[in-house]
Amino acid sequence: MNRGQKDEQAPNGSFSPSFRQAAWIMAGILMAMLAYQALTRDLDDRVRIEYSTFRRHLKDGKVARITVTGEEITGELSVAATREVGDESVEYTHFLTYLPPFGDDELLGLLERHGTTMQVEPDTGVRLHEVFIAALPWILMIGIAIMIMRRMQAQGQSMFSIGKTRVRLFDASKSTVRFDDVAGAHGAKSELQEMVGFLDDPQRFQRVGARTPKGILLVGAPGTGKTLLARAVAGEAGVPFLSITGSDFMEMFVGVGASRVRDTFREAKKRAPSIIFIDELDSIGRRRGAGLGGGHDEREQTLNQLLSELDGFEPSENVLVMAATNRPDTLDPALLRPGRFDRRITVDLPTQADRVAILQIHVRNRPLDDDVNLEEVARGMPGATGADLENIVNEAAMEAARRQAEKICAADIERARDKVLLGMKRETMVLSEQECQLIAYHEAGHAVTAAVLEYADPLYKVSIVPRAESMGVTQQVPERDMYVRPRQYLDDRLAVIMSGRAAEELVLQIVSTGAENDFREATQIARKMVLDWGMGQKLGPMTRSGGRDEVFLGGELAQRREFSEATAREVDEEVRDILTGAQHRALETLKAHRPALERLAASLREQEELSGEMVLQIIQESADAVPEQTVEGIPGDTRPSSGPA
Ligand code: ADP
Ligand code: MG
Ligand code: ZN
Repeated sequence: MNRGQKDEQAPNGSFSPSFRQAAWIMAGILMAMLAYQALTRDLDDRVRIEYSTFRRHLKDGKVARITVTGEEITGELSVAATREVGDESVEYTHFLTYLPPFGDDELLGLLERHGTTMQVEPDTGVRLHEVFIAALPWILMIGIAIMIMRRMQAQGQSMFSIGKTRVRLFDASKSTVRFDDVAGAHGAKSELQEMVGFLDDPQRFQRVGARTPKGILLVGAPGTGKTLLARAVAGEAGVPFLSITGSDFMEMFVGVGASRVRDTFREAKKRAPSIIFIDELDSIGRRRGAGLGGGHDEREQTLNQLLSELDGFEPSENVLVMAATNRPDTLDPALLRPGRFDRRITVDLPTQADRVAILQIHVRNRPLDDDVNLEEVARGMPGATGADLENIVNEAAMEAARRQAEKICAADIERARDKVLLGMKRETMVLSEQECQLIAYHEAGHAVTAAVLEYADPLYKVSIVPRAESMGVTQQVPERDMYVRPRQYLDDRLAVIMSGRAAEELVLQIVSTGAENDFREATQIARKMVLDWGMGQKLGPMTRSGGRDEVFLGGELAQRREFSEATAREVDEEVRDILTGAQHRALETLKAHRPALERLAASLREQEELSGEMVLQIIQESADAVPEQTVEGIPGDTRPSSGPA
């Protein structure tokens, strides 16, 4: 919580406040000295006289006593003397003069002869300004040192508090976030609910010998509510919540990150049951040894410390470690091993229904006009994250405030939406109308073929909610693990893969770039069919023999060619035949089920996500247009490339 030093960070190009402070202090000291000197001189009624005048007074026997301090002689006259200063004459008894540097041999004799008291003071009369001048370099050096230190503090941590954890500790009783504040993310929420149970009553798990998870990794796009979910877990469980952000660890001193990790875990154990939350795990947990050049020492040390801390406590210690990342692919594999971050919870982008729920949460304390339809707002923002939606609601409230209205109206939201959408970069993936349509048809194509073809894996889910890797998915789940795959299965699989592009072509007469992954996968399968599984028609039962070493990166490239140029060309032809065959088959299947395709695409636009059963139902409903036999009617014999299975 000691974030106070942050305030001292100065904008580049101007003097930092600490510098100004130091300058003021120095100026103050200087002024005080000058004032002191001026004052001592003014208060002093001593009159400066010439040395010769002093000697004359001495010879006249007027000098009562003198004090000699180095070269300075001050003294008092027994009788007042006058002295012309400018036009007026001044009477004085106290005087000041200086001994000539060559000395005065007769002085002592004169003093004695006239019975003058003489006092000698040691020459400590160091004048203040001399002290100041002598000390100036030191003052400057110390000042500069202080400034540099403050700078360093502002950038990172103080040199003196190395190792002090900058953990933010939220008092659980004050953590107001609950699961109710998180809309959507149903899967993640129910899994986390279980974690709350573990924190509440660990014995329940231990009694039956269940190894409770230590590390939970929340994975999802930025803004999907990972941090929010973690805070909700703490709020629900009512335990201390120690939160650190991965980027906090990026320090200037080697070893600081590691000791900070140690401190965090020690603190958490002291307060157990508790939750440690590491946000942006990828910034410390990046794969070791990746990247070019050295200089990763600091991060590696931090990561190693984290790994050993994760290993170093028992499940019974009742500390739950949660982490969030949007780049799970960059994480070091060691982090994901069992006993570390072994539970991965995916936080998906919200679907249409989720978006409505999120909007509802955020308009809770904001009065809405009657013309606002949240369903419609949500529909207009496919691909938006929770953070985007919150942003829109907030912007809309500001619009309303700007026109001094009491309630947020539909126009406010519309304007906010435009503003937020314009400001968004492409990667947040809010899609245009046309893109949505294309994706819906593409996925509907995959889904229809998957549902209709006999050997294809059963359909599990179709979704056009954009994700990091793709704009939509059609998920199939095999009924059982398959070790031997019949030829028909491969043909159907290829047809399903090709159906995405085929649907785009068939309905919209557009071909898009969205099928890149499809083609890559299809090509891989087709190549394997020809090269490994001996399914090529011309090549026959031949395989590229010899072991392959796929351990090495780029193994594909490094593979030894076990066949001639001519054979390579034949292989390519075979692969192409298989792929064109699959494409043709996909197109035929979709043509035969065109009404189902249309209906499915429309439902997808509506609901964004459909389960396998729902797809089957839709296809069934449109089946009256298509007799059932057609499905069986399309198989192998019509395909140009089909060979014996
Ligand atoms: P992440 O950590 O995944 O990048 P955050 O948890 O920081 O995202 O979310 C940012 C904000 O967006 C939250 O504070 C919340 O207001 C809003 N938000 C995100 N997801 C949701 C959700 N599922 N329900 C409600 N609000 C959400
Ligand atoms: Mg976050
Ligand atoms: Zn596809």
